[in-house]
Amino acid sequence: MTTYKKEQDASIRVGQQMTLTIKSLGINGEGIGYFKRKIVFVEGALPGEVVHAEVTEAREKYATARLLRVVEKSASRTNPPCPVYAECGGCSLQHMDYAAQLASKQEIVIESLRKYARLNQPPVSPTIGMDNPWSYRNKAQFQVGKENGKLIAGLYQTGSHQLVNLEGCQVQHEATTKIVQTAKQIIEELGIPVYDEKKRTGVIRTIVARVAFATGETQLTLVTATPEIPRVKELILELRTKLPELVGIAQNVNNQKTSLVFGDKTISLWGKASIAEKLGELSFDLSARAFFQLNPEQTQKLYNQVKTAAGLTGKELVLDLYCGTGTIGLWLAPYAREVRGIELIPEAVEDAHRNAQRNQASNASFHVGRAEVLMPKWAKQGTRPDVVVVDPPRTGLDDALIRSLLDVQPKKIVYVSCNPSTLAKDVGKLMQRYELKSVQPVDMFPHTAHVESVTLLTLK
Ligand code: SAH
Repeated sequence: MTTYKKEQDASIRVGQQMTLTIKSLGINGEGIGYFKRKIVFVEGALPGEVVHAEVTEAREKYATARLLRVVEKSASRTNPPCPVYAECGGCSLQHMDYAAQLASKQEIVIESLRKYARLNQPPVSPTIGMDNPWSYRNKAQFQVGKENGKLIAGLYQTGSHQLVNLEGCQVQHEATTKIVQTAKQIIEELGIPVYDEKKRTGVIRTIVARVAFATGETQLTLVTATPEIPRVKELILELRTKLPELVGIAQNVNNQKTSLVFGDKTISLWGKASIAEKLGELSFDLSARAFFQLNPEQTQKLYNQVKTAAGLTGKELVLDLYCGTGTIGLWLAPYAREVRGIELIPEAVEDAHRNAQRNQASNASFHVGRAEVLMPKWAKQGTRPDVVVVDPPRTGLDDALIRSLLDVQPKKIVYVSCNPSTLAKDVGKLMQRYELKSVQPVDMFPHTAHVESVTLLTLK
């Protein structure tokens, strides 16, 4: 008996090898299994697989293990098409076929709601995916560095600062790949120095290429550590000659020691300062730094789900909380009496105003502030919204906002979430007064572990 107990308690140690069955997929795309009742995360392992793995980290509540060998392979396992999939931190599900990715994302939402909202059978629909889940990103944002004296550009490895050179990227729109590769070549040919993070010398930090899917217009932004770029005239000429599809070239200066890509100052080097993009009936002018959803095709599906959930008749006052540049609010404006957005970042609200004007949405207004402060303040002044849409960052809703929602009691809450755990916790709290009607996952980032969803809650 004693021996048995001892074995049960024995802790897992680093370097230990084990064979375990993978039960589900974690929020970062890792396989989850159990060993001596402890949760073990195994990157690259798939649900249903039996794997042999070596412990790399042992904590009180969980362990992490490196996949050594797949003993029993899942039928969903595929060969990742990307040659640098193993190193690059961009994707994490390319080793799983697409249908299984969609099913796993639905499962992650269901599990979260079971765990945090204590719902046995949450009404979660199958994930809405893409017919062609490749070439979907409209923006490439690649760090620049040096490798063996050669200029490279790409993304960092997961959890490290090791840059992975990307000659191509299958989730990127081809137009952005061409711009990045050509810019890289020209910068190297002209001998323009690359920024060195450690020494804090050099010029070019990041190459950002963006394409408007609806119009084909493209824009290049070079983020530099210095205000001057050596041989800038030749640089512009070369870029324009080799990339005639560009409508504008911009420079953004970021001289800070920071992981943020953009600095405060943006200068137009040539051409137009923005590109024209369309989403459904709406049109947008995107300046170099303006936020825009990265997967336009899926964004339309996401917003249409919001519209369906909101079920507007034209009489409603709709609040669009965490509105960013106002896209959800503007999507709903033609079907509502009035839309009011709240967003923390003043520049985004300026963009939202411009977008409202551009689309002649005279019934939409956008306000700078914290949702959890401004909404209760409006409520005190007598504002009674019929529908409240929330689209918070990964951290979910502030407690003060949840209290305010429970107090104001809009007939419907439509919750757009990029994090199933915080969604489920917030739904659990809102269920005091609200009934969970539907949850619709939408795959915004195929081959990554991101899970987005649209949830409808109605007042009991
Ligand atoms: N709804 C937008 C973007 C949502 S992203 C779209 O579909 O494009 C989340 C946004 O919430 C960000 O723009 C962020 O700046 C904003 N935000 C973060 N905390 C906030 C808060 N407490 N109150 C209002 N906005 C906030």
